[in-house]
Amino acid sequence: MKTLSSYVCGTWQKGSDETQTLFNPATEEELALCPRAGFEAASIAEHARERGQAALRAMSLVERASLLKQLSVAIHEAREELIDIAVANGGNTRGDAKFDLDGATGTLSYYASLGKKLGDRDFLTDGEGIQLGRTPRFWGQHIWTPRQGFALHINAFNFPAWGMAEKLACAILAGIPVVTKPGTASALLAWRIAEIIVEKSILPEGAFQFLCGSARELLRELGPQDAVAFTGSSMTGASIRGQSEIQGNHVRLNVEADSLNAAILGPDLDSDADAFGLMVRNLVIDLTQKAGQKCTAVRRILVPEALVDDFAEFLISELAVIKIGNPAEKTNRMGPLASAAQFKDVRQGIDALAEFGEILCGGSDPIADRGYFLAPTLMRARDIRAEAIHRDEVFGPVATILPYSGSAAEAAELVNLGGGGLVSSIYSNDRPWTEKAVLGMAATQGRIWIGSDKVAGEILPPGAVLPQTVHGGPGRAGAGEELGGLRGLELYMQRTALQGFQGLIARSFGALEQDD
Ligand code: NAP
Repeated sequence: MKTLSSYVCGTWQKGSDETQTLFNPATEEELALCPRAGFEAASIAEHARERGQAALRAMSLVERASLLKQLSVAIHEAREELIDIAVANGGNTRGDAKFDLDGATGTLSYYASLGKKLGDRDFLTDGEGIQLGRTPRFWGQHIWTPRQGFALHINAFNFPAWGMAEKLACAILAGIPVVTKPGTASALLAWRIAEIIVEKSILPEGAFQFLCGSARELLRELGPQDAVAFTGSSMTGASIRGQSEIQGNHVRLNVEADSLNAAILGPDLDSDADAFGLMVRNLVIDLTQKAGQKCTAVRRILVPEALVDDFAEFLISELAVIKIGNPAEKTNRMGPLASAAQFKDVRQGIDALAEFGEILCGGSDPIADRGYFLAPTLMRARDIRAEAIHRDEVFGPVATILPYSGSAAEAAELVNLGGGGLVSSIYSNDRPWTEKAVLGMAATQGRIWIGSDKVAGEILPPGAVLPQTVHGGPGRAGAGEELGGLRGLELYMQRTALQGFQGLIARSFGALEQDD
């Protein structure tokens, strides 16, 4: 059986004999071993800071952008092989795998295009120049320069390709080296992508290291110029945030955690509306894509009381036609949960939630003799304010319908009970109602997606994280922010205010068009 290695300090290294086994979650076949530890954390940090930093800082933003384009192309060239790995180790259907892989290459390519326009320089301007004195001679300008450390990227198991690539894109364009660690259960895909990146020698030595196993030792090596981008559960995020080295060394930390995302049906829609059908289609995607293991998947579905029966019947009938089974068979449209641990957690989560609602379809019973398969589970809340419904993320194909009055204020109040979310979606054609709902919940949401008849034919589902707009959310969602165009580079750069003679500041550090 294959043992995954780590690419650290310029070589592939085996790590310790203590390993975790990776499985095919559809068949429970053993696929590979992943070492848990065995690397010299201080040397990894030094290699990134000494070799990677110097190499990236010698390049302009435009040159670094071209590296991203090459990475995107190299990963895309291996798409078929990578899909097969995601099917085997992630329990992904081909559609799930493409969502992850195309998300990865698309985000790299987006940042490559963005970077191409940033000029032949190593810094970014932030806003316009500002007159600070009586005359423009005394002038101010904010600029961003790359921090003089490295980025540690810790990823969740559910998006091994996209999670790694979206963080890599921002850090490399910003000009700081990366050590990336995949979620272990599905590490095979990230490991193969890392192999491709190293084989093709696209990134300068030291700019990219790949660590299988634990990142705990490396977290202790971080200093004030380093940054951590973490994706995973809010519990792990909180424990990293609480580490004394992270706090004591003032390490920048971005946490992308879990979220009780909501979808809200406005009271103006009935089953004839395009937006009504759009909501049902999007919920079917969220409950079945990656077997519901998406941080953006809807967990709470707010439906006006009078419409609940019709809505639930419609949704259940759409879910019933989804074929569940081994994703290696192309006709299956939903695969298993990604690991035995996930399977156990989700089954327990369904049982716990069932105390607060009626199970309308699905449930915690396995639907196959082998593999980690569950059916999409839809519940109807008995008490729409029950704490558990707004607190416990069951990270699988599970959502609860909350019958509400139809008032925008109540919809917002219920959404806000989630304590901070990544994305909530509103379906309505009523502008004043939508405005009220948006303003009532915007402070607790990183993103609000608005579906109406006008965009039903064009809008991408709310689960699609687009690099142009920010991803992240307050409170339990981690209080972090990623992507959002150039905003995504800020974690890795320092903003500095320059004050002085306009002739120098505007000419040397002003916005690009002033350079001519
Ligand atoms: P997790 O158990 O929190 O693990 C996330 C990552 O942290 C893994 O690489 C894990 O390594 C590592 N890790 C675990 N304990 C650690 C510690 N004490 N110190 C340092 N690293 C540690 O989460 P998961 O089960 O992989 O992912 C599912 C969760 O991620 C869900 O709650 C989901 O909502 C959330 N998620 C959020 C986003 C977002 O963008 N906001 C995206 C995807 C997923 P091992 O795998 O080796 O344990």
